[in-house]
Amino acid sequence: MYDFLIVGAGLFGSIFAYEAKKAGKKVLVIDKREHVAGNIYTENTEGIQVHKYGAHIFHTNNKEVWDYVNQFAEFNRYTNSPIAVYKDELYNLPFNMNTFSRMWGVKTPEEAKKKIAVQVKEAGITNPRNLEEQAISMVGKDIYEKLIEGYTGKQWGRPCRELPSFIIKRLPVRFTYDNNYFNDKYQGIPIGGYTQIVEKMLEGVEVKLNTDFFEHKAELMKQAEKVVFTGMIDEYFDYCYGELEYRSLSFETEKLDVDNYQGNAVVNFTEYDVPYTRIIEHKHFEFLCQGSGEDSVSGTVITREYPADWQRGDEPYYPMNDDRNNKLYTEYKKLAQKEENVIFGGRLGMYQYFDMHHVVEEALNTVHNCLK
Ligand code: FAD
Ligand code: UDP
Repeated sequence: MYDFLIVGAGLFGSIFAYEAKKAGKKVLVIDKREHVAGNIYTENTEGIQVHKYGAHIFHTNNKEVWDYVNQFAEFNRYTNSPIAVYKDELYNLPFNMNTFSRMWGVKTPEEAKKKIAVQVKEAGITNPRNLEEQAISMVGKDIYEKLIEGYTGKQWGRPCRELPSFIIKRLPVRFTYDNNYFNDKYQGIPIGGYTQIVEKMLEGVEVKLNTDFFEHKAELMKQAEKVVFTGMIDEYFDYCYGELEYRSLSFETEKLDVDNYQGNAVVNFTEYDVPYTRIIEHKHFEFLCQGSGEDSVSGTVITREYPADWQRGDEPYYPMNDDRNNKLYTEYKKLAQKEENVIFGGRLGMYQYFDMHHVVEEALNTVHNCLK
């Protein structure tokens, strides 16, 4: 018998397993994939850590969370500063004085604020009710049309008018010449990748890969006092109230015989007609392109990220947290609360657009409550 069966060897499941094992509990972790680490999985390709499921930059304001992850790896000083390409124009992200200056030729914060205020007034928005209105009220119509409308439309498969505002509020808008994509105090990439973090968490824990919970549910449930489920909550309940919506992705990864393909880790393509949203050049996450520096690695690996509709069987990368889906999730949550001895956690178990630092917080709170 195990004290805990943990479904999912992603960040949530692995933190739970690590803390439970530390408290003397017997734990079994299963995952249907052939590797641990879930979506933060990274893989060494000729000296370059490839982020297999999209760019992952760790950032947080919470010192406890930062110290917690730093136990498992040393983090570098990487600061995310993506470039946005719209046709033959190139802009800095997030929306800051470099973006405004490039867009309008303005030089001072006052000039930029005036320009935005005029565009917001022309659009007649006072109380933004959706992503389009929210975006225009933050940065004006020009930036909305060139840098947001197309990217967001393809990313989410819907026009901005039909999307919730919170998605665009993830991005800072600042009136300084600062291209840091995040406002958080702590930020970096683990030197040597993310997989080692999860491997360290799972040291001494029994892990079964290539094991789908639903294929062995009855026998697995019998073997554990409690189950921690980090898969899709609607799937757990056999979609009894209908499907929650997700957004999926496909990744196209290529090794190239050039040392520096795009000069930056993340380049966004904001036109609707370019089918991918971004190209990641993985070596730049670890500064492996410093000319004669001894850390330089020759050749490069890039990944194009294509947004895709989700259907059963596809990877559910993003929950669609709009009103309809949040309501449906509330119904599933009520069922989850009645499910004795099963804890639902993580991005899919809680149906929340969580970043890694949210997952660390949630997992630590959950496991500590459970072990009380
Ligand atoms: P997951 O990593 O999804 O782990 C769940 C695991 O459960 C998976 O391994 C899955 O195979 C397994 N599983 C599911 N169902 C079953 C089943 N039936 N049986 C067995 N196993 C099952 N966060 C940031 O902080 N910074 C970023 O820059 C960032 N970039 C991102 C980019 C992309 C493209 C995506 C998709 C996410 C990004 N995130 C980022 C979010 C980050 O990936 C998540 O916060 C984190 O990985 C969630 O961890 P988790 O354990 O909840 O879920
Ligand atoms: N976004 C955009 N243009 C960009 C980058 C982001 O319109 O060049 C919008 C888009 O709607 C996206 C949201 O901002 O879904 C949040 O961006 P983030 O980079 O946080 O997305 P994630 O990394 O979670 O995919």
